[in-house]
Amino acid sequence: MMSAESSVAKRLEGKVALITGGASGIGESTTRVFIKHGAKVLVADIQDELGQSLCKQLGTPETINYIHCDVTSESDVRNAVDLAVSKYGTLDIMFNNAGISGDPEPSAIASDIDNFKRVFDVNVLGGFLGAKHAARVMIPAKKGCIIFTASIASKICMGLSHAYTTSKHAVVGLTQSLSVELGEYGIRVNCISPYAIVTPLFRKTSGISNMEKVEELLSAAGVLKGAILEPSDVAQAALFLASDDAKYLNGVNLPVDGGYCLNNQTWKTGLKDRLL
Ligand code: NAD
Repeated sequence: MMSAESSVAKRLEGKVALITGGASGIGESTTRVFIKHGAKVLVADIQDELGQSLCKQLGTPETINYIHCDVTSESDVRNAVDLAVSKYGTLDIMFNNAGISGDPEPSAIASDIDNFKRVFDVNVLGGFLGAKHAARVMIPAKKGCIIFTASIASKICMGLSHAYTTSKHAVVGLTQSLSVELGEYGIRVNCISPYAIVTPLFRKTSGISNMEKVEELLSAAGVLKGAILEPSDVAQAALFLASDDAKYLNGVNLPVDGGYCLNNQTWKTGLKDRLL
């Protein structure tokens, strides 16, 4: 009899993936899902212990490895891509997921420029370096898939810092710009925009210390009721984009937000009455 595990159709069998920020949150969950679907994975992060223990938990060095990689360092990113190729023979999927929220920014005039630059270095330059070095390997192979983690902050202004919001807009611009250039070589470039998920990054961004009920409250604030967004939901979107099922998707910013960004009820809840 087939076990539940083996009966799952493996959608990434034979593919090699590099996941930045793969030790925690969305990246960790995506690592688990990609391994389950038959991919060989190189986890790249700056949280070495976390990354190494995840790899031990999920497989052997034949299928999963960890590399220390600060995405703001071009040599670190180059080494990570080269290691994926030397260990596994190729690179099919580059998931540029590492990101930081940066420090809270009470207002534009009170903003700290160094914080702004740091957020851009990780969220935008880091992603660009990942794409640049992945493309170096994917162009000769005339195939590949590059995915970024953007955010709903790439679509709407939620009162998050200007640094974070503009960095995520830039990720969408990068996705679109790269999708046109790299489409020429059969390489697809897409990004994912999740709604809020309780991860270490969310805890830092929100400044909320008591996480009890936060998931429920976030869910209640969403458009789609009765569901709580989890890292694995974003991992499933990454799985879809990385798989051959998405073979004609290029340049897309895929929302995983339950419709949150579509919601603006000000007309219905007051503005209309005031105008009449
Ligand atoms: P997380 O903090 O759990 O994971 C982020 C990972 O990135 C960590 O493992 C961290 O060590 C790594 N990282 C940070 N700086 C790095 C660097 N310079 N080099 C390499 N790795 C680095 O947070 P998460 O929520 O899983 O965030 C993943 C992505 O999702 C980020 O790009 C974030 O902006 C985006 N996102 C998160 C949410 C949310 O609510 N959690 C919503 C939308 C988008």
